[in-house]
Amino acid sequence: MQTEKHFDESRFVRQIRYQQLGAEGQQKLSQAHVGIVGCGALGSATAVSLTRAGIGTLTIIDRDIPEWSNLPRQLLYTEKDVRDGLPKAIIAEQRLREIDSNVHVIPHVADLTAHNISDLLASVDIIVDGTDNFETRFLMNDFACRENIPWIYGGVIGAEGRVMTVIPGKTACLRCLIPDLPTPGSLPTCDTAGVLGAAVMVVAGIQTAETIKVIVNREQDTESKLFVFDLWDSTWKTIDLRSLSEAGCLSCQGDDYEWLDTSRYQTAILCGQDAVQFHHPGKTPDLCNIAKNLSCFGNVTENKWLVRTEVEPGIVVSVFADGRLIVTGTRDPSQARAIVSKCVGM
Ligand SMILES: [Zn+2]
Repeated sequence: MQTEKHFDESRFVRQIRYQQLGAEGQQKLSQAHVGIVGCGALGSATAVSLTRAGIGTLTIIDRDIPEWSNLPRQLLYTEKDVRDGLPKAIIAEQRLREIDSNVHVIPHVADLTAHNISDLLASVDIIVDGTDNFETRFLMNDFACRENIPWIYGGVIGAEGRVMTVIPGKTACLRCLIPDLPTPGSLPTCDTAGVLGAAVMVVAGIQTAETIKVIVNREQDTESKLFVFDLWDSTWKTIDLRSLSEAGCLSCQGDDYEWLDTSRYQTAILCGQDAVQFHHPGKTPDLCNIAKNLSCFGNVTENKWLVRTEVEPGIVVSVFADGRLIVTGTRDPSQARAIVSKCVGM
């Protein structure tokens, strides 16, 4: 009996001809369900290339609408989209269906949190990281480890990119590599250090290839490694992470999924104010570094208790020495989180 084909052979003839994939691999792609978390620069590029590669179903989760400053990198959006102001996940669905009318896209206009991750990513086979912050990455990592779902970490700052494939039970996970959330302000973000669109395309290309490899059952060949490059310096490195995977960590050994604990997220809309507060107890922010990074947005007020600046008209970010962050000028926790991750890198 012949297996029913779920794809158009003439359309994918050159992929099928590629021996490592073949018709069997193409069939697997057509039946696969990929979750893309964040549909900005990396998420746009992976969504387009996975759709063109013939992936059957994409779940796309994004909390934002396109802005002018997104257009140099975010392949899915146009000037008209910025003017129209529709959410990125909704535009992504329309545009991807124009590329391939057979792709099934499930858009979620949402901020991925410990509260909704089990619902939004329940049925995916693999997760692709298109986020810009470590809090969401640690959340995805714990979810992926608990549910035994492979995921592809990807990040870009400036011209530097990094990619790591996490196969729970086989490779090191993100928490093996980075044991805890980086201190607020200790790392540059795309908004403070800038980003080169070409580096995004390279990371997204590697993430797409890794996704396809895992789907066609090549996860048994996946080794623990971190791929790092810098396009400006023309340097390429593959860092062997086998010793980390042998040691393991609380997340990948199944002992503790602390990022899935909904009580650790202490977000509050401040009573009587147009402001949202985030609190990470026990985290001491590096105020000096944060002040330096925020100075690219405007004048920074800095003292030993707090750092404060107006990051966009009407929106003020205040970071306190006790680990609190307050975004003034909005009562929308999702918008406030986006601003915090953009400006402070959390
Ligand atoms: Zn681990």
